[in-house]
Amino acid sequence: MQSNDRVSDFQSEDIASLEVKTTTCYMCACRCGIRVHLRNGEIRYIDGNPEHPLNKGVICAKGASGVMKQTSPARLSMPLLRRPGAERGAGEFDEISWDEVFALLEKRLAHIRATDPKKFALFTGRDQMQALTGLFAKQFGTPNYAAHGGFCSVNMAAGMIYTIGGSFWEFGGPDLDRAKLFVMIGTAEDHHSNPLKIAISKFKRGGGRFVSVNPIRTGYSAIADEWVPIKPGTDGAMLLALIHVIIDKGLYDREFVTRYTNAGQLVNQTPGDDDFGMFAMDPEGDVVNPDYPHNKFWWDRHSDTLVPTHTPGADPRLSGEYLLPDGKRVKPSFQLLVDRVADCTPEWAADLTGIPAETIYRLAHEMGVTARDHKIHLPIAWTDSWGVEHDTVTGNPVAFHAMRGLAAHSNGFQTVRALAILMSLLGTIDRPGGFRHKAPFPRAIPPIAKPPKGPQDVKPNSPLEGMPLGFPADPNDLFVDAAGKPVRIDKAFSWEHPLSVHGLMHNVITNAWRGDPYRIDTLMIFMANMAWNSSMNTSDVRTMLTDKDTDGEHKIPFLVVCDAFQSEMTAFADLVLPDTTYLERHDVMSILDRPISEFDGPVDAVRIPVVAPLGQCKPFQEVIVELAGRLKLPAFTAADGGRKFKGYTDFVVNYETAPGSGIGFLAGWRGADGSKSICGEPNPKQWEMYEKNNCVFHHELPPAYQYMRNWNQGYMDWSKSVRMRRDADPILIHIYSEVLQKFRLAAQGKRAGKQPPEHLRARIETYFDPLPFFHEPLEMQVTDRATYPLNAVTQRPMAMYHSWDSQNAWLRQIHSHNYLFVNPLTARAQGIDDDDWIWVESTWGKVRCMCRYSEAVEPGTVWTWNAIGKAAGAWNLGPAANESKKGFLLNHLITEELPLAAAVGAAPLSNSDPVTGQAGWYDVRVRIYKAGADEPKETSPQFQTLRPFPGTRGVRRAWLAFFAGRNATPSD
Ligand code: SF4
Repeated sequence: MQSNDRVSDFQSEDIASLEVKTTTCYMCACRCGIRVHLRNGEIRYIDGNPEHPLNKGVICAKGASGVMKQTSPARLSMPLLRRPGAERGAGEFDEISWDEVFALLEKRLAHIRATDPKKFALFTGRDQMQALTGLFAKQFGTPNYAAHGGFCSVNMAAGMIYTIGGSFWEFGGPDLDRAKLFVMIGTAEDHHSNPLKIAISKFKRGGGRFVSVNPIRTGYSAIADEWVPIKPGTDGAMLLALIHVIIDKGLYDREFVTRYTNAGQLVNQTPGDDDFGMFAMDPEGDVVNPDYPHNKFWWDRHSDTLVPTHTPGADPRLSGEYLLPDGKRVKPSFQLLVDRVADCTPEWAADLTGIPAETIYRLAHEMGVTARDHKIHLPIAWTDSWGVEHDTVTGNPVAFHAMRGLAAHSNGFQTVRALAILMSLLGTIDRPGGFRHKAPFPRAIPPIAKPPKGPQDVKPNSPLEGMPLGFPADPNDLFVDAAGKPVRIDKAFSWEHPLSVHGLMHNVITNAWRGDPYRIDTLMIFMANMAWNSSMNTSDVRTMLTDKDTDGEHKIPFLVVCDAFQSEMTAFADLVLPDTTYLERHDVMSILDRPISEFDGPVDAVRIPVVAPLGQCKPFQEVIVELAGRLKLPAFTAADGGRKFKGYTDFVVNYETAPGSGIGFLAGWRGADGSKSICGEPNPKQWEMYEKNNCVFHHELPPAYQYMRNWNQGYMDWSKSVRMRRDADPILIHIYSEVLQKFRLAAQGKRAGKQPPEHLRARIETYFDPLPFFHEPLEMQVTDRATYPLNAVTQRPMAMYHSWDSQNAWLRQIHSHNYLFVNPLTARAQGIDDDDWIWVESTWGKVRCMCRYSEAVEPGTVWTWNAIGKAAGAWNLGPAANESKKGFLLNHLITEELPLAAAVGAAPLSNSDPVTGQAGWYDVRVRIYKAGADEPKETSPQFQTLRPFPGTRGVRRAWLAFFAGRNATPSD
């Protein structure tokens, strides 16, 4: 009994010290709600929060392994300054205090701001605070700011937003609750992880059919009812062939297409006319919105006359050619689409994609018939933008989801346009069972935010005119100088990549090193491993980071890196700022940024610290707010010249987008007493209210506002009233893109205003096609396909989020090295056995790695996981760790720039989409061959072993004995 008493005493004491705190996961970018269980203030385990709308209690392996992030051997714990005399990249540092850090940065940045603000560049990785970092850059006055989008999936965002006014993932997605057919294209094995897995599980149990188009059959593709292998970079051909069949068989939703897209609008087809390819405008008509004029024409099939669009009772012709009263020839834009896809037959696409023509015919038929014959009618009354009242909301239950596999090619923008048009032809946009928007989308096409217009918008000691990132609608929106040259260091919004709405982070280091278009002084990088897996030409970038001028100064003079972990990138820093983990800080998933909205209304979320920061770690948000205060940036400075905000939490509560706007970083519990939503004056108790509500705010819209939002007057009026949109006019889908045609006309010299440099005219004219078309990725123009017959691609593994988790003891047990996965037919043809050491070679470089047979990849493609391979000693792993000896990085085979014909005599051109600047990650071609028997059994290339940084804790054994704190604690 005595012993039982002791047990019960122990338990009650133990239970008294238990705590459960809620916050938001950040082991990947999905933002699931989590519960963190603590004993005596120490994290014991993490599970999913059942009360959270996004993941409803589900947690994945990554999320649960957040415990080990806290105990990682790579955790930085103090600010570090490169030791005098030490070389960049050697990882030799001395500790300095935060006071010294801020004094150093304040002095350096104040001088830059007072002289030439663009010499300060701030680029961030997969952070979730772009509303804050973007505000800081704008207020500082530098245009040189962007996050990871340009090297991630900007083609997906831009291609969709420039077509339907919204995009996948944060801003919209498949309505699998009501879909009957789900088609996923080019999506990584657990993209949009828990939310999508939950939805697919329910969808499949409900009898839905799931088709996955992907070169690789892992993750989602492995559980699909049908896997359709495709050659990388050819998705556009498949999509155009699907459109061809759907139009040819009359399987498109004519009513949806005529009323809700620009398919019936008449396009000038008068040869030689300066307005060729532009919509004919009605000078007497109602413009409605000068930025997005609506005064266009239909050719009414009832009266066989020209009428203003959306004339009550009229029905536009979609085919034919017509003569306007002024003698100009016009065609409905739908006719131009029909002309475009006339030759894009499944037989044509079969050769390019490797998908049999009969499969394309069958899929097109299945999509069209499912959309047409399984219509959903929800008893929800709503009123459209033209005043017509509808008793029901109709849905065509075919849903799509696509991501980086489609986007990360230099032909991805037009491919994504083709997908958005296919979805529109099937009548699935913001309808039940199809694609549905998430607030703050839909937005105008393109959204109203614009980049600066020229060098004059960058001025000393002044905020930037315009937004660092925006959506050009016209060549005159480009950010170029009088000679048409780029003003940004990454050349975004220039004629090289006009619609680069997320910037081109992957070009920053090379451009700054080369001084093209100019040299910078200070480069600040947050959460981006540019010296490893986030650069395309890793070895060269590492050299550029250490390269010096003849005077002995580095070509990039000062490099500041903020991260929570020692990595390949932090080694090159002059100044290292130790960030906190997501469990140690306040954070917001802001409605001004990338919130976690649901289909039924806006949702935003916060992180609240569950443990104190390690050592001297400081959240980057606090660093930004502190620097903004010291530099007296206007939005952070009170009228009396003092600081406006005490710190980040105070900033989040009290910042408003304009004085008295009532719009801030968080949409929930606004107003002095927290009674207002979305819009309202600051609430001093806002953080507490989020904390009490599982760190999440969910505003459910009335059902009448949940669908057809591009053309739903009730939703539009509400959206305008809460300043989510500036206007309330309808957003017609751009089957035909006049925005692109404006650039083409400029390239043809037919449009006044900004003109492309001569060497880029043909490039603009070719790729700014107002209708989607298929062209091979640019890299093919300079690749010898006979020598390099295989496509090589990467995807991130389910258990790790890019390079974030190689320091995580639990997740390293799942992956500590990677293989090149090769179809056995391909491998055997080269005499390669399973697990053999092989060389993989491209035009640009070669790596040695291990081969693994896999029948889950089509024979013309090889693939591996991204960022499992590490540089020796990086992430504080032992120098002989599998990650560096057996793991490898495919990036060594990829080039960042291409010797394209358009670049001859001018600066090199980026290996990126010519429209958006999307990095062409998946365009490389390789050959494979067996490594020599006498070669070392380790990956190549190898790099000098990185030494542990001061303040890191080294490899620990806690995880071996980690069992609810009884046998060991993480501090062991
Ligand atoms: S899916 Fe991502 S955010 Fe959700 S629990 Fe897993 S790691 Fe965390």
